[in-house]
Order: sequence, then C-alpha cells, then structure tokens
Amino acid sequence: MTAAPQIPLRLVESLRKVDRVAVLTGAGTSAESGIPTFRQAQTGLWSQFSPEELATPMAFAENPKRVWEWYAWRRELVTKARPNPGHLALAQLARRFPQFTLITQNVDGLHQQAGSQEVLELHGNILRTKCSREGRVVEKWTDTPAVPPPCPHCGAHLRPDVVWFHEALPQETLDRAMAAAASCQVFFSIGTSTVVSPAADLPFIAIRNGAVIVEINPEPTPLTESADYVLAGPSGMVLPELLTCLA
Ligand code: NAD
Repeated sequence: MTAAPQIPLRLVESLRKVDRVAVLTGAGTSAESGIPTFRQAQTGLWSQFSPEELATPMAFAENPKRVWEWYAWRRELVTKARPNPGHLALAQLARRFPQFTLITQNVDGLHQQAGSQEVLELHGNILRTKCSREGRVVEKWTDTPAVPPPCPHCGAHLRPDVVWFHEALPQETLDRAMAAAASCQVFFSIGTSTVVSPAADLPFIAIRNGAVIVEINPEPTPLTESADYVLAGPSGMVLPELLTCLA
C-alpha cells in the first residue's frame, strides 16, 4: 500500500495565513473511486481503443454508435462510483478559506456529491446529454433501436455533454477559472497530468502571479519542477492528512 507523504509544516503555516485558494483537479482525484484515468489502461471490451481516439468530434462523426456505447460504459462506472476521502476532504477544506475556487476537469460530478458547492466544470458532465446539432441539453428521450438515440426536437444524434479533445471549453467557466488562478495565493494541482490545455495552463497562470504551487500526484508531471511543494501520493490519502494538519 502507498504511504501518504509527510505534509511540510511550512506549507501548513502558509495555509493558515492565506485567504484565496484555487484548486484544479483531474482524473487522478477520482481514481480511488474506481473511475480509471485516461492514462490508465482501458479494460475489457474497450482495451483496443485509446480515449484520444474515442473522445473527439471526428470519432463521433465516423462511428457515433461506438462513441455513444463507450460513454454509456463510462457513465455506468460513474453512476456506481462514490466520492473518496480526497473529494470529501476538499469539500471540508473549502470552509477554511474566505475564497476557495474548485476547478475540475472531471466529468463525474463526484465533487458535488461530496458536498463541494460551486464547482467549475471545465469539461462538462457525463451525466448530462445534449443534442449534437443544436447543443441543447436533453433530459428525456424515447428509447428506440437507434444508437445513439435521436434528439426528440430535431432528430440529430444525442451525445454526452462533455468537452471532447479539439472542442472549445465553456467560455464563462474558463474565464472564472483563469481569474481564480490569477488571483489566488495558493494553487493546488491535484491528480492531473497537466498536459491537456487550456486546463494545464492554469497552474502556470498562478505561478506568473506569485502563488504558491502545491502538486498532489504520485507521478511527476510537467508542473512538478515548478511546484513549491510536491506531495507525491494518492490524493485520497494526502488530502485527509492535510486537513488533519490544518485542524
Ligand atoms: P489524466 O488521465 O491525463 O491524468 C491523471 C493523472 O492523475 C496522472 O498524472 C496520474 O499520475 C494521476 N493520478 C493517478 N492516480 C492518482 C491518485 N490516486 N491521486 C492523485 N493523482 C493520481 O487526467 P487529466 O489530466 O484529468 O486529463 C484527461 C481528461 O480526461 C480530463 O480532462 C477529463 O475531462 C477526462 N477524464 C475524466 C474522468 C473523470 O471524470 N473521472 C476520468 C478520466 C478522464
């Protein structure tokens, strides 16, 4: 079993003094809830495909059935998943700072389930479905043999309301995330490989504006060398430990 790294006293002391904290989470934050990250090998039926080949508008145009079915499989994983101690600790941590912005690249809604309020979802939410032509969110549709099911308003394919590779992020959410990164005193980058832009730019915006950078990830990333603190362990262990140290 992996041990949680020691939380440096200097970090705890800094955190006691600051008012503005921003947190960016990625797929690693939900790994301990049983949702595989994109870099972890896909299993079973889907092992022959890489997510980069499935989570794109091109893949959907070429084979909408395959992409819909892959998301149906991931949606089922997400529906069964529960927040882990890392999600729960983040919801608690938010209460300790006057300004706390939680930004996530995850599409699983587990931060909200853990009690986090006002989560900036950069990449949408897999539990929502939208029309692939008009973009409107669709709550109900009649099941037909067609896969993906047709939009009840215009008949185009339905698709998950997530941001695929090569698609633009929701502008207002991104603007709020960038503003939080630019104004925070401490920036946490948790469970993200820091390679998918523009989310990967956020810690570097924080660095340029003088924030203290804390990375929580068992593996090094392109951010590691620039981080002030690297807590190299699973977020489900490190975050509860950090919360205890702050108590
Ligand atoms: P990624 O898959 O590229 O990287 C995951 C990172 O998490 C890696 O750096 C890995 O070392 C780290 N990690 C693994 N286990 C960890 C743990 N227990 N604690 C802390 N860190 C851990 O994920 P990404 O950077 O978020 O980018 C891929 C994109 O895929 C995301 O933007 C997201 O939209 C999508 N995605 C979402 C989910 C989800 O909603 N749960 C899952 C997979 C992919």
